[in-house]
Amino acid sequence: MSQTPPNTFQIPAKLLPLDGRFGCGPSKVRPEQIEAIRQRASSVMGTSHRQAPVKNIVGSVRSGLEQLFSLPDGWQIVLGNGGSTVFWDVAMFGLVQQRSQHLVFGEFSSKFAEATLAAPHLGDPVVISSEPGTHPTAVPDASCDVYALTHNETSTGVAMQLSRPRADGLVVVDATSAAGGLLWNPADVDVYYFAPQKSFASDGGLWLAACSPAAIERIRQIKATKRWIPASLDISIALDNSVANQTYNTPALATLIMLDDQVQWMLNNGGLAWAAGRSSESARILYDWAQARKWASPFVSNPAQRSNVVGTIDLDGVDANQVSAILRSNGVVDTDSYRKLGRNQLRVGMFPAVDPADVEQLTRCIDVVVEHLTA
Ligand SMILES: *Cc1c(COP(=O)(O)O)cnc(C)c1O
Repeated sequence: MSQTPPNTFQIPAKLLPLDGRFGCGPSKVRPEQIEAIRQRASSVMGTSHRQAPVKNIVGSVRSGLEQLFSLPDGWQIVLGNGGSTVFWDVAMFGLVQQRSQHLVFGEFSSKFAEATLAAPHLGDPVVISSEPGTHPTAVPDASCDVYALTHNETSTGVAMQLSRPRADGLVVVDATSAAGGLLWNPADVDVYYFAPQKSFASDGGLWLAACSPAAIERIRQIKATKRWIPASLDISIALDNSVANQTYNTPALATLIMLDDQVQWMLNNGGLAWAAGRSSESARILYDWAQARKWASPFVSNPAQRSNVVGTIDLDGVDANQVSAILRSNGVVDTDSYRKLGRNQLRVGMFPAVDPADVEQLTRCIDVVVEHLTA
């Protein structure tokens, strides 16, 4: 081990990425998104969300997302305050009729299952789990009216191909870190929900859900049963506000501006295929690099389940926390693993805003840091 305190090691400037943000949410915000706020500093910021300037941005976000996801007629983008964690409660009140089935393969997927387990108005959920680093498969079950899938498990870096179980029941997908960075087909899904601080490079605190006609019918059915639902968690109220390009209560305006800018950026460059292509290019660079190092390997052993948006790399013979700390002291931040996973690991956000060339530079930085630590 080197005698130099590890966090004083200076990475040569020519190896540094242009932008050193590799977090998994909040994640890199492009400078143009900040500029978009500045341009609306007095025309939108500090103005009413019930008036045209803000409503037009919400409308632009909603129609932009419809276009980005190629949503068929009858789908709606619904939004409300609280982020994806609050959406689990929203879904527990307004989408699950009696019982849900959950694929649990990490921290985030387990939390929705905990929410439905705790709900006094629902039957105990069916939980199908698998080891971290893999994902389970849904099992058709006539007693389940919701299948809760996770497109990308951010805590482990496992992505799953979405498909509809051969059964009735809504397919409700946590796409918080996947939406905008991974491909999906609306035919396989009823509710695709997310928050804007990951692939959409915006800020947290908002939830958005693309809802199929079947999902909208379910929302109306449950509402008609007079189930007690707190108004701030009532998706039927959120839906009514969303179609009017509003939210039930006041949203963060800067979040909406940055989200809108990111959606338009994706559309102007070629849409979801282009955005997903950037993440896939970054992922190829990261995983190929790890496989070519004796001391690094992709945590997810099945290449088909490796995420293009969240890369998890196990290190061997070198302390990943020390590597992350040195990177951080050089302005290359948030490569730490998900703490509860408890592995000697780096985790790299490769959302579309991240330049694949910067992922390449990151791998060069890690090389010199590891060389320094093991010298
Ligand atoms: C980040 C994340 C969440 C939590 O999102 P919040 O907006 O912080 O509530 C939920 N699920 C997944 C898959 C995530 O990546």
